[in-house]
Formats: sequence, C-alpha cells, structure tokens
Amino acid sequence: MKSNVELNPLAPDWLELPEDVNAVAPAIWPAHLSRSEAGEIEIAGIGVDDLVSQFGTPLFVIDEADFRARAVAVREAFEAAADQIGTTAKVYYASKVFLCTEVASWVDELGLNIDVSSGGELAVALAAGVHPSKIGLHGNNKSLIEIGRAVTAGVGAIVIDSEIEIERIASTAGAQDKIQPVRLRVNSGVHAHTHEFLATAREDQKFGIALSDVPALVAKIRSHSHLKFLGLHSHIGSQIFAVDGFVESAKRLIAVHAELLKFGEVPELNLGGGFGINYTRADDAPELTEFAQQIAQAVEDECKLHSIAIPKLAFEPGRVIAGPTTVTIYNVGTIKDVTVTDVGAPQVRKYVSVDGGMSDNARPALYEADYSALLASRQSTAPPALARVVGKHCESGDIVVRADYLPADIAPNDLLVVAATGAYCYSLSSNYNFLTRPPVVAVKDGSARLLLRGETEADLFARDVLYQTNLANGKSKSQRG
Ligand SMILES: *Cc1c(COP(=O)(O)O)cnc(C)c1O
Repeated sequence: MKSNVELNPLAPDWLELPEDVNAVAPAIWPAHLSRSEAGEIEIAGIGVDDLVSQFGTPLFVIDEADFRARAVAVREAFEAAADQIGTTAKVYYASKVFLCTEVASWVDELGLNIDVSSGGELAVALAAGVHPSKIGLHGNNKSLIEIGRAVTAGVGAIVIDSEIEIERIASTAGAQDKIQPVRLRVNSGVHAHTHEFLATAREDQKFGIALSDVPALVAKIRSHSHLKFLGLHSHIGSQIFAVDGFVESAKRLIAVHAELLKFGEVPELNLGGGFGINYTRADDAPELTEFAQQIAQAVEDECKLHSIAIPKLAFEPGRVIAGPTTVTIYNVGTIKDVTVTDVGAPQVRKYVSVDGGMSDNARPALYEADYSALLASRQSTAPPALARVVGKHCESGDIVVRADYLPADIAPNDLLVVAATGAYCYSLSSNYNFLTRPPVVAVKDGSARLLLRGETEADLFARDVLYQTNLANGKSKSQRG
C-alpha cells in the first residue's frame, strides 16, 4: 500500500499496485475467464477479439456455466443452512438485477423461484414459462393492472408494501374468486451498508410497514377470506458484507412473528437479499455458505427464545448470483493524460475513454460504485499507470472504472474488459445521448449465443412519431416542411 501511495497519490487508499498488471484476479472475474498464452482474454474458451468481431462493442458477456453454478450454489447454501435448523428455504432470484426470458428459464430449471417488481418483469417470467406459483411480486406502488395480472396469473406471493394494498389485492382476488397468498414487507429499522449497519426505530425510506403497525395490518389481512397470510418480509439493503444487519433484522421480525402466531398461522419468514460481491481486488465478500449458516443460527436462537416453531425461510439473492458472472467488453477510443495539481506535486491520471459508459453502467454515476478493468486484447510489458475509464456521454460523472491500474501503453482500439457487470448494469441501461443498448451474449464451451440483440437506431426511431409518419408518407427529410 505504501508504494502505491508513493507511486500516485491520486489513487484511493484501497487500491494497491498490482504485481502484474496483466494478471486475472480470480475473486473478481467469471470462473471461466482467463488470459491465453498469447495474452488475450478468453471467456469460456472464446477470445475477446472473436466475440467483438461477431457482436461489436460494448458487449455484455455472461459466463453461462458460471451463472448456472452460482445459482445452484446460492440455492444450496440457503437450503443447507435451513436444513441444519430443521426447516426449509425457498430461494427467489431477484430478477431486477438482470432479466431476459432465457435467464428466467435457467433459474427456473435450476430450482430457484423468481422475484419480479413490475408488470413488465412479471411478463418476462411468465413468457419464459416459469410456473406462476414460483413467482413473487414486489413493489411499493403496484398498479391495479399489475395486481390484476399477478392475481390472474396466480403468482405464489404478493408482497404487500402498504395498508392500501391490502384492500386492493383482496378485492382483486375476491372478484376472481381466488385466494391470494401474501407477505407483509416490514421496515425493520435496520439498514445495512457494505461494512456496517444502522438500526433505528424506523428507517427513513419508502419501503415497508413499521414494526409497530404490523399486528393491526396482519389482523386486517387475516380478516379477508380471499387473502392467505404467508408471513413477514424484510430486505435491508444491498451489497452487504457484514452478517450482523441480517441477524438484527431477523431478531426484530421474529419477535413480531411470535406475537402474530398467537392469532393464526405464520408459515414463512422472508429475509430478502442483499448479499455482497467483489468488485475490486480490495473487496473481500463473505462466503455465502457461512453467511447463510449464521443467519439460520440467529433464526433458530431467536425462535427458541420466543418458544416458537422455526418457520420456513425464504431469501431473495440477486447480485450474488448474476453479478460476478458477466463482464463488459469496450473498445478504447481517446486517451488523455490529465495532470492534477491540487494534491501537492503534479500527478497524472490517465483518462481512457470507451465506447459506452453510464448508459450501460449507471452504478458509478448513481452511487460511486467501484469497478475493475483489464486490458483484454493483448498483454503488455509496460508499467502500470493509474487510470480512470470513462464513457462517451456528456457528463463528467460518466465514469466506468473510477480507479484501476492499466498498462501505461494502453492505446486506441485496444479492448478493455470490466468485471462484475452482471447485476444492475444492463437492467439500469438507458439510451442517453441516443446510444443504443448493447447486446448480451452467453458464452459456454467455446461458443457464444445472443440472448438480447443490440438495439439499432431503427429501434430508437420506431417510437418517434413524426419520423414514422414521414416514413409512412414516403417523405424523406429533405422533402419535409
Ligand atoms: C433488490 C432486491 C433484492 C435483491 O437484492 P440483491 O442486493 O441484488 O441481492 C431482493 N429483495 C428485494 C425486495 C429487493 O428489492
């Protein structure tokens, strides 16, 4: 760390100088990503040059075998932890992290359930053939249409987020003469960040019901013959590295759960998602197996304390399944050595511009998220230089990788790969500056398959009414007006 500070004071404290700037750190890259003898990055046996000649840049590449293996490992971690305390666990893939029909069918086939948080995500899960009973619907402001679609489909659970929704769901289910299973989302007052958590009476945010209001609302749910109460739900945050927030939240929920048991059944307890992953070499994400065991242990202890039976558990991991399985390949454009003088002696930060940016990865702009990059199309013997990878948008906050060391000889037309872009990147993508959304491919055993094609300008013009009207009238731009 010392030599790093000496080398470039612009580098954040956590960023160490890599021993080998070409090295692939296994903790942050997909399982089947490696550098070939010739120095090119390959994913599941396909080189980045080959991928880019087939699909262009920017390009999202999912290591399919890694995705499948992680989905199974995550499901098994929670199932095994639940089994140890004599109960079961349902695992829902939080589809908002990344969703298309094929990925929905993978998780379905691998024995996971799926969470959706809008009518659109519900439509994708249903189109993928996921059985409605395996779908959970979330959202703090579900429309009547969304509730109607979910009840009609027969989803396995709707997570109620406010008192108003009780009547809405009950009357929708009543009109269809159905019994709709529901959970109640609780604001446990626990909010977890990566390394710490904050506990208050009620966390100051929009989701969930205050713990003190839960008994009255559950009584209301139980008064409706068209609703079936499954239990309480909490989700305390995302990218969490410390288990204590989950433990605290579970304790608070179980205390109320025990009260609710005095007046009726409470078969399940859903503790949400939020499990953290590595984005940089400095991150040290928890081992999920241990994490799950510690949460299960806390549930068992707390149930004992209240002398109640251990409920069936449910979890909703998203990022921890999809995040590490995917990389983004970019083409390097302009490069600028920017001399910064406000840190004492002048220091240089190398700005490397790529052909995407905040439109395909909004997280650095949204929450100053950190990422890691490698020169992918070749290896280099040049010394490492502190670099910032930036996009091509008209915003100075359009950052892809805030700080990482790249070979000092990085040049236009080199390819870069950015790690861990499988969660909250494509799903948060936009058409800012009229950029088209990149394609998403799955690679496996040496071949690549398109899951989502890239957008074209024609896709963007398809919704432009005057353009389409002129097109329909056979008018070109020059004939207009
Ligand atoms: C976003 C979300 C998740 C998934 O969070 P991750 O951090 O991706 O695991 C789970 N449950 C709810 C209710 C969510 O909103």
